[in-house]
Parts: sequence; structure tokens; C-alpha cells
Amino acid sequence: MSTRLAAANNGAGEGYIAMEGTSRLAEAELAPPPKLYANRVRVYPKAVSGLLRRIKWAVLVVCLAVYYLLPWIRWDRGPGAPNQAVLLDLWNERFYFFGLELWPQDIWFLAGLLALGAVGLFLVTSLFGRVWCGFTCPQTVWTDLYLLVERKIEGDRNKRIKRDRGPLTFDKIWRKIAKHAVWLFIAFWTGGAWIMYYVDAPTAVREFWTGTASAPVYAFTFLFTATTYLLAGWAREQVCTYMCPWPRFQSAMLDENTFIVTYEAWRGEPRGHGKRQGVGTSLLGDCVDCKACVHVCPTGIDIRDGVQLECIGCGLCIDACNHVMAKTGSKPWLITWDSLARQKDRAEGRPPSVRLIRPRVLIYLGVLLIGAGVLVAGLMMRSHIGLSVAHDRAPLFVRLENGDLRNGYTVLLINKDRKPAEFRLSVTSFPSARLVLPETSSTPQKVLSLTMPPDTVQSVRVLVQGQPDHLEDGREPLDFVLRNIATGEQAVYHSVFMGPHEH
Ligand code: SF4
Ligand code: SF4
Repeated sequence: MSTRLAAANNGAGEGYIAMEGTSRLAEAELAPPPKLYANRVRVYPKAVSGLLRRIKWAVLVVCLAVYYLLPWIRWDRGPGAPNQAVLLDLWNERFYFFGLELWPQDIWFLAGLLALGAVGLFLVTSLFGRVWCGFTCPQTVWTDLYLLVERKIEGDRNKRIKRDRGPLTFDKIWRKIAKHAVWLFIAFWTGGAWIMYYVDAPTAVREFWTGTASAPVYAFTFLFTATTYLLAGWAREQVCTYMCPWPRFQSAMLDENTFIVTYEAWRGEPRGHGKRQGVGTSLLGDCVDCKACVHVCPTGIDIRDGVQLECIGCGLCIDACNHVMAKTGSKPWLITWDSLARQKDRAEGRPPSVRLIRPRVLIYLGVLLIGAGVLVAGLMMRSHIGLSVAHDRAPLFVRLENGDLRNGYTVLLINKDRKPAEFRLSVTSFPSARLVLPETSSTPQKVLSLTMPPDTVQSVRVLVQGQPDHLEDGREPLDFVLRNIATGEQAVYHSVFMGPHEH
């Protein structure tokens, strides 16, 4: 802060003396606070053709085809089982992926799969930037589809801008109504297709149109219709810029060797409209400042300003600029997919080098491979039987006439197989232990025989009686062992046998 004294006139003719620093502070305090809200600047992306645009169309078609058609693929799992290849059956607590059937106990596999997906995304981002955002993210795919509809009905960028700024005419009204009608139609099919991942697709369609579907089916169809329409039709680039957390932390995965969409400033600048007299003879760079790259950008940014959070890496500005370079006779790929390190090399006249193998890439790759190995091994060794035991809370034990102790348990048995299974249930720990199945017999047995129907969870009450060798603190460990006779597969549950405290 300056301590220079300043004499001034306050405008009312009165002289005053103030310290300059203090007066600036007072001005800053009186100044209105900066605006934290900026009005949205509407983006009118222009149509473009070229290599990246063709790749984007191809990815869009594949993504939409997979999304809309997957629920209709059938997969025979035998009688009594759903025959939809991909079905997230929340009501019956089963997830089906072609030949794979996941039970609630296998939720670790889904969690692991999601974690691996995230690491895979980290790996791809660290190598090739935001290709997920630019090509395969559902927000990008549906926004692209909605923009296509908009262009077909309302025309390309200039026509849309002119019509939006012009008066309300019949032409404007019918085009707007038609566009929103098609958008809603797409949104409805998108919402409806989402439901088909949770209920059998043909049944869902039949019940939906005959008014017999459940209330959640109608509610979620409406919800996903509304979100698709709002996010892809209205919010568009704002989802990427403000709502999505990914752009915020993806910068942690990028470094100077990551391939991203970038502008070759070293040959583009100084930009300008002036005439080029021939390569190397003009004072101007290759960029003719036509803004074609800005006009096609779905997020409305200028890639020439450098790496930006709003850039989704779609590459459409590359296509736009390549057309311009072809017209001006300059080398193509002024905007290109390249790393900042290679750009620096080129700018300084060194041969550019590719550095794909980097510590972060190796870490992501290592985690991905190890994680995938663990998941596959876990899946292969996954048990097809399940056992869970709950000890009675009251009474903890009873003493029988012959002096034996008896404990009660609720035993949960799971048969994940698609065929009936014969099981043997026994306990280990003390040799005199005998089991009773009170529902069928009161005779104590060393081993209980149980038959389980296919694909079931069954709860049975089991009594264990005997005289444990030693009850430390009134309890002795007791292991329940469930064994599938046919396959030999075994499940063990560690429980306890309770009795009086020994002194
Ligand atoms: S700057 Fe280029 S790559 Fe980035 S979002 Fe815009 S058009 Fe896509
Ligand atoms: S399209 Fe190419 S030439 Fe035109 S402004 Fe963008 S970078 Fe410059």
C-alpha cells in the first residue's frame, strides 16, 4: 500500500487529504461486487464434414444401436428363468449379462467392474485426452442426435440464428413445434428403452401400451424422457461445462505428452485475413482468422485460446479448419490431435517424438490388468452355494433333561444353480454335536440332508444339541458346513454355541 499523501478536491469544492492506498481501499469497498452469474450465450454449432465427423457419426450409430437393441436380444437360460440377454432384475435381485448371472452376494463384481471402467477411462484420458467425452459419452451422443434433428428442421447455423433473432412467424412456430415434437419422441424412446433393461422388453412394451404396467414403469419412463429432453435438447454443452464433474478432475490425468485437440500456434500465428503471397513469404501465419473452428464447436469455444475445460475433444474444429486450409492452399491439420510436447518440438524445429509409456500410463495399466485378473479369478472361483447362520437371541441356550445343551439357529441356504441340488449340512467343533430339523423330525442327526430347488434362497430352522468340551466365557466356536453332494462345493459359516459360564 502506498503511503504517499494526496490532496484532492472531493467535487463539492472541499479539499481533503487522503492516503492513496486508503482511498483505493475505500473505492474497492464501494464498488459493486463482481457478478457471479453470467447469462448463457447460446451456441449454434455449424454442420461440418470430414474425417472426425464421420468417425463421430459411426460411433453415434453404434452406441444408439447397442442402447436401443440390447434389451431385445434373447438368451435361453432354461425353464423358469428370464430369457433376456441383459436384464437388471431388481425385483428378483438378479443381474443377467448373457451367460453370467449375478446374485446380491456378487455385488463386489459389479463394483469392481465399475472401478475398472473408471481406471480404463483414466488410462485412455492420459493417452488420448477426452475421447470419451467427445465421442462416446451419452450426453455427447444424444446432443449430437438432437442437433441433427435441429439442423434438419431449422436449417444450419446462420438460418437458425436469423430465425431466432427475427419476429414470430408461422414458419418459425411450425419449425419449433416440429423440432420439439421430434426431440420428445426421441426422449420417449430413450426413456422407454432404459426401462427395458429392468423388465422383460416385450412384456414391458405390451403392458405399457395396454395400461397394465406397474406405476414405477410409467414413472421412470416419464423421468428418463424428461431428463433426455432437458439435457440433450436444452442444457446441451452446459452439462459438460457446469454439471459434469469429469472435466474438473480429468486435468489430473493429462500431461504434456497426452494427445489432445490442439492448435499449432507456432505456424498459425500471427493470424489475420491478409493475403498470403506464398508459403514462407507472408508475415501472417496460416490461420486466416475465419472462425470456422469456433462456429462448429458444440461448446462454443475457440481452441486457439489453448487447452480449456470446456473442450470435449470432439475434433470437429479439426475438420472445419482442414477445409479452410485446403481452400487457402496451406498444409492441413493446423488444428490437430497432438501432444503439447510434440508441438513444442515442432515449433523449435526438433523432430517430434511420441512418449506413450509414462509412469502414470504404466500405473493405470498395471491397476487395470491386476484388477481385471482379480475380477476374472474371483468370477471363476465364485461359489454356487451360499450359507448364512443367525443364532437365536433368546433364549441363548436351553438345558435338556439329559443334561445336554441346545442352541437354535436360523440357517439361510442358497442354491445358485439352475437345477435342484442335494446338500449335506453338518457342524464341526465338538464331537457330540447333533442337528435337529424341527420342521421335519425331532431325531438328532450328525448330518442333515437337504434338497434345494433350483435358483433359490431358503431359510430353515436348525437346532444343535450336545455337550461342548469347554465353554470359555459361556461360548464355543461352532462351524456350519454346507456341502453340495453332486459338485463337492462347500460353504462354511463360523458361528458359536452358547451355554452357561464355567467357573
Ligand atoms: S474446441 Fe474443437 S475439439 Fe474442443 S469441443 Fe470445440 S470443436 Fe470439439
Ligand atoms: S478454422 Fe483454422 S484458419 Fe479458421 S480461424 Fe480456426 S484455426 Fe484459423
